[in-house]
Amino acid sequence: MAIVVQKFGGSSVANPERIKAVAKRVVEAKDRGDDVVVVVSALGDTTDELIALARQISERPPKREMDMLLATGEQVSIALLAMAIHELGRPVVSLTGGQGGIITDATHTKAKILHVNTDRVRRELAAGKIVIVAGFQGVTPDYDITTLGRGGSDTTAVALAAALKARECEIYTDVDGVYTADPRVVPSARKLADISYGEMLEMASLGALVLQPRAVEVGAMYNVPIHVRSSFSRETGTL
Ligand code: ADP
Ligand code: ASP
Ligand code: MG
Repeated sequence: MAIVVQKFGGSSVANPERIKAVAKRVVEAKDRGDDVVVVVSALGDTTDELIALARQISERPPKREMDMLLATGEQVSIALLAMAIHELGRPVVSLTGGQGGIITDATHTKAKILHVNTDRVRRELAAGKIVIVAGFQGVTPDYDITTLGRGGSDTTAVALAAALKARECEIYTDVDGVYTADPRVVPSARKLADISYGEMLEMASLGALVLQPRAVEVGAMYNVPIHVRSSFSRETGTL
């Protein structure tokens, strides 16, 4: 059985209706016969709101405590998505980054993944479950919670796909692929059918939000097929 990793960004899980739609899409993939690992971001603008909340307490909050705070956003998403999939009658388990084996260094707020321990995820897949892993977060070898930098759920997904030797890592977002420029800013931008890791890395490093640069680097390093596509349509996106 092949493993697919599906990542859903914040706008894809912004409200209960969208979470239910994501649950259906995940179940469809499972019904096609694949083992499915899902990575989710925090709901809508939750991360921005948590940052603003911290700023009301402290102008320079300790980075360790920022990670403790920010990681709560993704924990809300994994639980709600697991409930939605449970409602559809499918076995499912939600895991935090730490439970999902995402081990990082201790560079709080922009930690680097050192290693992915896939034991727990593999065990849950073998038991027939859909596995949901919180994006953007990990733990240090000392069990301190870390986050991977803004947009870090992309990197969680690609790193998991690499470690699990997944057939594909699907990045579901609010645009239907990678364009020659940000389609919200440049209306004449063209959608690309495919793009090399090198060109994608350049675009991401110049600030294209659509993939975190680190996710592209990990993808290139382990040759992970990454498919950026819309969570609101069935259209093929950009490979
Ligand atoms: P998610 O919450 O799903 O991770 P992001 O907001 O992080 O989504 O990234 C998607 C956004 O990236 C799009 O809404 C789009 O405005 C922006 N973007 C910037 N450059 C590009 C590009 N070249 N192609 C596609 N989207 C781009
Ligand atoms: N929720 C985090 C952020 O807003 C991670 C992500 O969305 O990928 O940056
Ligand atoms: Mg993003």
